[in-house]
Amino acid sequence: MTQTSSAQKVTAYIGLGSNLEHPLTHIEQAAEALNRIPHTRLLALSPLYQSKAIGPGEQSDYINAAAALETSLSPLKLLHQLQIIENQQGRKRGPVRWVARTLDLDLLLFDNIILETEELTIPHPRMTERNFVLFPLRDLAKLLSPSLALPDGRSIADLAQSCNDADISPTNGK
Ligand code: ATP
Ligand code: CA
Ligand code: CA
Repeated sequence: MTQTSSAQKVTAYIGLGSNLEHPLTHIEQAAEALNRIPHTRLLALSPLYQSKAIGPGEQSDYINAAAALETSLSPLKLLHQLQIIENQQGRKRGPVRWVARTLDLDLLLFDNIILETEELTIPHPRMTERNFVLFPLRDLAKLLSPSLALPDGRSIADLAQSCNDADISPTNGK
């Protein structure tokens, strides 16, 4: 009988966004921090995009990206690690949703799992409507896994193609 002591490694995809205090620096720092999460390594960071904020009031544009991680953490432990990184980079949490923030890290996909708990829903429930999520994710898929799809079979490439939010463009973040 084969004995395995290490937990199974899976690929998880993270959506990154920042629209406060030098967004490019926050995204770059976050990528380094993702690579330092225990039992996890950064496989790739996507190209960057600039998008208009969807939240309330006048807000600066976002810099968005996606990251692919290899991890043996559970989904919930990974979420908690993402929240630690957000906090370390000055994320303030208040009662109002979608306000400007130094860093937002959303857990988009975790292997092929579907999860619905009070604290964590996977796939991320709004990812299919957002081109600032789908475009960088499509870039990562081209690189790592061209047939990347949601657990229900819808392909990221198809979803990105039919997502028509206008206000997004590639950027070098400067
Ligand atoms: P949105 O979820 O629409 O992108 P947001 O990122 O601004 O909005 P947050 O305030 O960052 O929302 O997160 C609110 C809560 O969402 C978190 O406390 C977390 O428990 C929960 N949540 C549920 N599913 C996920 C997920 N897949 N990734 C990140 N957070 C999630
Ligand atoms: Ca978000
Ligand atoms: Ca979030």
